[in-house]
Amino acid sequence: MERKTLDQRGQLTEQERLRHSCAHVMAAAIAKLWPDAQFAGGPPVDDGFYYDVELKHRISPEDFPAIEAEMKKISKENQVFEKLTVTREQALSDAQAGRLGALGSRDVASKFKLEMLKDIPEGEPISYFKTGDFIDLCAGPHVMRTGNVGACKLTSVASAYYKGDEKNPQLQRIYGTAFKNKTEMEAYFTMLEEAKKRDHRKIGAEMGLYVIDTEYVGPGLPLWLPKGTVILEELEKLAKETEFAAGYVRVKTPHLAKEKMYKTSGHLPYYAESMFPPMEMDEHREQRQQLEARIAELEKQLQDYAKKIVGGKSGS
Ligand SMILES: [Zn+2]
Repeated sequence: MERKTLDQRGQLTEQERLRHSCAHVMAAAIAKLWPDAQFAGGPPVDDGFYYDVELKHRISPEDFPAIEAEMKKISKENQVFEKLTVTREQALSDAQAGRLGALGSRDVASKFKLEMLKDIPEGEPISYFKTGDFIDLCAGPHVMRTGNVGACKLTSVASAYYKGDEKNPQLQRIYGTAFKNKTEMEAYFTMLEEAKKRDHRKIGAEMGLYVIDTEYVGPGLPLWLPKGTVILEELEKLAKETEFAAGYVRVKTPHLAKEKMYKTSGHLPYYAESMFPPMEMDEHREQRQQLEARIAELEKQLQDYAKKIVGGKSGS
């Protein structure tokens, strides 16, 4: 995760502020349950927030109710998000004392916060946000009070490498989402449920239109069944007729292309993992390489021979 500039932080929407604030509340709850937690970054994301944490205890969804119960307590206490501006020396000493991303001082340093401090450019103010006893290194912004986080829910947990680098320690990334109130949150989860019911993969399979076999064929590669094929062909026919009527002419392109095309289209960086590996287009590559080497060798012999003849001539 790239560090946000102060300008970018100023542009966080109201909802992003709320969700990032909820990440603090979640961290405080986790720190209460597992004081050895080492927090890294906790930004808002598209549909909620996450916080990366290093922790001996492996957090699973079974832990969510306990964490959420602690979060609820913090929210009920309506703690102020208190901003404290500190000197770099103070911050370094607090990080060494394990005080950042924690409820109190600890035996070990707040190692990720210590590293984050080093990333803060010289001259940029360093600030903490304190809610109750929980102090975190953060530039903000947040909501005013923990009570403003009206409704929140932890949604999933995944693993993530610190700073996205597999050479770094593996952290637990805990996702959640937050809303101003319960009504908004319920509407969101209802919408998700409804979307699931309308998922084309589910409907397509139920209607016997196609089969998607991720193991043998691949994701996003439907095998069209007879009923589906009829629809597909009728749609194609309609498309052709409509295009013809509008004065378009049709062209054909290959189904496969070189890597360069997928780079240009922008697919490769996002779908590399689910895409097929590049094909070896030439099954006679090895044979060809051997022949090319032999040709190069013969050409050299020929040149040497030619030099000899020319040299011989000039000598006479
Ligand atoms: Zn914050």
